[in-house]
Amino acid sequence: MIYIIKKMYKAFGDFREINPDLRGIQPVFNKINIVNEYPDYNNDIESLKLAGIIHKKVRKHLQKKIKPGIKLTEITEIIETKTIELSDQNKTINKGIGFPASLSLNNCAAHFHPLSNDNISFNKDDVLKIDFGTEVNGWIIDSAFSVCFDRKYDNLLLASKEATYYGIKNAAVDVRLDEWGEGIEEVMTSYEVKINGNIQPIKPIKNLGGHNIQKGIIHGGIFLPSYKRETNDKFKEGVYAVETYASTNEDYAKPIEESTLYRLNPSNNNEGNNLLDNIKTHFNTLPFTDRYVESFSNNYKQELNNLVNKECIYSYPPLYANNSYIAQYEHTIYIDENKKILFSLNDDY
Ligand code: MN
Ligand code: MN
Repeated sequence: MIYIIKKMYKAFGDFREINPDLRGIQPVFNKINIVNEYPDYNNDIESLKLAGIIHKKVRKHLQKKIKPGIKLTEITEIIETKTIELSDQNKTINKGIGFPASLSLNNCAAHFHPLSNDNISFNKDDVLKIDFGTEVNGWIIDSAFSVCFDRKYDNLLLASKEATYYGIKNAAVDVRLDEWGEGIEEVMTSYEVKINGNIQPIKPIKNLGGHNIQKGIIHGGIFLPSYKRETNDKFKEGVYAVETYASTNEDYAKPIEESTLYRLNPSNNNEGNNLLDNIKTHFNTLPFTDRYVESFSNNYKQELNNLVNKECIYSYPPLYANNSYIAQYEHTIYIDENKKILFSLNDDY
């Protein structure tokens, strides 16, 4: 039986109680017939709401199917099949897939996506971050949760969850990002976890964090730190992915293997390149993976690497922290002067 940290429900209850300003947050629980209810292309908020509803339905479906030994490729299949089923195929960019799921195990913090022939599975002793995206009218919902079968990771998951909630609660127009990040670190470091007999303090991974989202662009250029990072920047009106990574050891995650995740660089276009043209047609600026390219191109790898080297394509290699267990939670929100909308909140997280 999958264990999606039951304490999270309780944690959310506490969060409501001690934070009356949560009343300003509008969770979106609409029950609508999704494919018939696509909002107007230019209605950004309604598009995000629908993408959030699809995200919640996809993960609810997924959570019932996760069991020890499940292959990561099976998880991607479940996520993608359900996402496609719930999305209007006449109106999507890449079938409703906002980006390929990151399925990062244990000391891998982010950006692991299995190749089609990978045999890696999610086992009893693992902690897995499931981070996937849904897309409506170009707007991406970016939301992630952590799962494990062993309760020894409880506090690790809770630390990330509470830190992310802190971030959601305190995100508001004109809030300084350094102070906001400092608060996240305070919440995170108030936890410790006992894993295999060792009590370990929990800390945030500092080079990973939230970001703004623009239409069609998953990383809009603003970084939301999980520590007191030196900056004078403040939150402005907009869409943000609020995410934190709780680690038992290292506070820095680095790339050590090849990427399987990519995205078009919209400002560096190499006209007349066949592969690049195909990528643009199939994904526009949405992230993609090798498996998707395989569906329309055979010998693409060398050329893809060339395009990465020429910076026509960004790559996102998996990021690892040494000797660490890592948990992550993430929600997509909108803030302006008057309101805060939390698109991806549901009763699971
Ligand atoms: Mn994410
Ligand atoms: Mn994100």
